[in-house]
Amino acid sequence: MTNYLLVIDDSEIIRKQVSGLLLEAGLFANCLTASNGMEGFKYLTASPADLVICDLDMPYLDGLKFLRLVNAQPQLRGIPIVVLTANHDRRLKLDGLALGACDYLTKPFDPEELVARVSNHLGMKKFRDELRRAKDHYQQLSNTDPLTNLYNRRFAGEILEAELQRARRLNCELSLLMVDIDHFKRVNDRYGHQAGDRVLVAVTEGLRSALRSYDVASRYGGEEFLIILPGTCPVAALEVADRLRESVAFLRFPPPMERLRVTVSIGVTSFPVAEHDDSCALFQRADDALFLAKANGRDRVEQLREAPPIRCSG
Ligand code: GH3
Ligand code: MG
Ligand code: MG
Repeated sequence: MTNYLLVIDDSEIIRKQVSGLLLEAGLFANCLTASNGMEGFKYLTASPADLVICDLDMPYLDGLKFLRLVNAQPQLRGIPIVVLTANHDRRLKLDGLALGACDYLTKPFDPEELVARVSNHLGMKKFRDELRRAKDHYQQLSNTDPLTNLYNRRFAGEILEAELQRARRLNCELSLLMVDIDHFKRVNDRYGHQAGDRVLVAVTEGLRSALRSYDVASRYGGEEFLIILPGTCPVAALEVADRLRESVAFLRFPPPMERLRVTVSIGVTSFPVAEHDDSCALFQRADDALFLAKANGRDRVEQLREAPPIRCSG
């Protein structure tokens, strides 16, 4: 148990009493104390506490202003804040709760009640944290391809839409690459499907190592990869594509595949080429460019910079 408590109160007696009580009850391993809202806020942003006990009337920055500051920081919003105040004013109590305080106790307080309430709030926070972790985990699973750990086709589509919106808003360019492994069926036929899987993982690494951190690589289908290059013009996209092609061509494999050479064909296109250019047209151009690369001999990059006739059906 490594829970950490933050007590904010301008009375040293209350700070000692509350922290002593809650540490003794075994609810927290550590406690920091602050004598006003600003000091407390600094501690909280430096290291988010598991629970905060906060007074209302304090010098420099009072409890309600402290709550407002915390509210404005999304990463701090899940921290339970218990108001502990000598002020019995009903309006103040409602304001405190409206600003996100999870509980409101007045002084003089019943020590056992404080321990019981804090224990409940800690339990609820733990449950919320577990839910959030589970949500993140399942979100990650639903967005990624299990073999290569790359984003999957569905999520890549979402990212492309978001990046296109951004490119339109900021009036900047974006490029798209469709990468397909050449004659991959032969790899499976010769070495088996499991070895084929290992080759797919190695190709993924080859692609990743040649990309910049803000490029987005995804597994579009079996042996096809879709790569989004935000803020990248056609000339730069062609350079990136060729770097990817070379990176894959240089891959070497352990026995029995030591003689295997893997190559990729890449279709390149960019946004925008026409007034109403959209993701659908972009996919189509990248795919058409890939088709050209295959038709022109594979292990090569082809680029489409003009809009082909629209053939998209939703
Ligand atoms: P081309 O150069 O025209 O692209 O030829 P290709 O053999 O790569 O293309 P084709 O579409 O004929 O075959 C793709 C192969 O990719 C067939 C399929 O079994 C294999 N494949 C797709 N997904 C996976 C996978 O997850 N693991 C393995 N090992 N193979 C896969
Ligand atoms: Mg292929
Ligand atoms: Mg294919």
